[in-house]
Amino acid sequence: MPGLGVEQQRMKKNDIIELTITDMGINGEGIGKYNGMPFFVKDALIGDVIMARITKLKKSYGYGRLEELLTPSKDRVLPCCELHRRCGGCQLLALSYEKQLEYKQQKVRNNLIHIGGFSEAEIDEKTEPIVGMDSPYRYRNKAQFPVGEDKNGEIVTGFYAARTHNIIPVEDCPLGVAENKAVLSAVKAYMKANRIPAYDEVTGTGLVRHILIRYGFTTNEIMVCLVLNGSMLPEADDLITRLCRIEGMTSICINCNIKNTNVILGEKTITIWGQPFITDYIHLWRRDEDHCLEEHRRAESVELSNEYRKTADGFVQVDNAIAYHISPQSFYQVNPVQTEKLYSLALEYAGLTGKETVWDLYCGIGTISLFLAKKAGKVYGVEIVSQAVEDAKSNARLNHIENAEFFTGKAEELLPAFYAKGQQEDMLHPDVIVVDPPRKGCDQACLDTMLAMQPERIVYVSCDSATLARDLRFLCDGGYEIGRLRAVDQFCHTGHVESIVKLVRK
Ligand code: SAH
Repeated sequence: MPGLGVEQQRMKKNDIIELTITDMGINGEGIGKYNGMPFFVKDALIGDVIMARITKLKKSYGYGRLEELLTPSKDRVLPCCELHRRCGGCQLLALSYEKQLEYKQQKVRNNLIHIGGFSEAEIDEKTEPIVGMDSPYRYRNKAQFPVGEDKNGEIVTGFYAARTHNIIPVEDCPLGVAENKAVLSAVKAYMKANRIPAYDEVTGTGLVRHILIRYGFTTNEIMVCLVLNGSMLPEADDLITRLCRIEGMTSICINCNIKNTNVILGEKTITIWGQPFITDYIHLWRRDEDHCLEEHRRAESVELSNEYRKTADGFVQVDNAIAYHISPQSFYQVNPVQTEKLYSLALEYAGLTGKETVWDLYCGIGTISLFLAKKAGKVYGVEIVSQAVEDAKSNARLNHIENAEFFTGKAEELLPAFYAKGQQEDMLHPDVIVVDPPRKGCDQACLDTMLAMQPERIVYVSCDSATLARDLRFLCDGGYEIGRLRAVDQFCHTGHVESIVKLVRK
């Protein structure tokens, strides 16, 4: 094999090698070099010295499994969940939270420099410190537990072990709300008492597939939805009685999914008790910096009460909330505490005075759009999923917001079409465009049209800093420059990081 050193040629699968972990990969896995070749090892952290078993060898890199921790990194902490390695949901749980934040900030920085080609000096000047959580646990407002039976025929609920469909029994998860535990026990007790079988993926028989739980952080309302391999739930009254003992129970539904698929929810949902939705509120915050608050007081002519809510990292709640109705199918951000900070930053970066026309692309159920609408002249939201657009419209009505319009379609098709039409009919010129695309980033046609429309500002919210870096490079080559940027930790203990960037027209 040309190009490889003698040592590398000799390496083979199952060899045990010693690695010093010096970096972390995009999914939070540790990276250490052996004879110059990088190895990716799940559960290994920066600073660890480990023995790893080679599980896969590629031409210029490899994968390994952590066999023995020789010298643990000084940044290791005792993980608060003993199942975390098997579950795989929290790749960073054994790393101190402070270091997790440092790692995520670094990841965004590296991508902007190496993929986006921005200079270190520019990124460092424009970056504000990552927004972490005061208490990074129990932050998820949604949980989906698969249901199965163990070897003895007992009902188990839990999580799929990483990359498999084996259920690891879990009674509680440190990222989920404490209420999940009571819901799981109530459903299991109901199934046992009434001999309701769990769904078996292999044979396609049995009834209960998943338990979906949603929780409104500001209202304490709980929704439970049982996903069934069928459309009837025997002895439903018994389930309802048991679930209604849990404080906050607001909605109990069944969803029918008879397909042999990994998609959790089927199309049809029936409410069997209570409302078909729960309500949650998102508040707007400002940063507790004198100039921000002063600016806010002037703009709103309000006196802030002394009792406003405040976080340790300096966000102050200053505004009335927007209400959202959430049904089992709705897309809704999973970390409501951080979402408030993220949206508050989006609004701050958008720099609205009340007159602007704003486009919110990839708007989901209109969560950002409705905040923008309160401070803008007009907001147009674009979203591909028609149900989400329906939710956006009804959430606008719920909040008496009349200056937001929503359109169903692909951003890369609708935006160019509107632009062409706008040129003929003198449609309102956008002052600000906000984008919040899925991981693959914005489509080229969408980026081209954004440049053609020449908004004063673009606010880019991203859940993947690699595609963010790629898109920012294109927008900056097309006449924009980075005003400010900030990472927000929406998914604590996982390798994922959200970021938000303000671009201004040069
Ligand atoms: N801004 C929203 C949703 C962001 S998630 C919020 O904060 O809640 C990204 C959204 O983009 C999803 O709702 C997804 O359905 C939508 N989407 C994906 N591809 C799209 C496309 N090509 N055009 C428009 N919307 C798209």
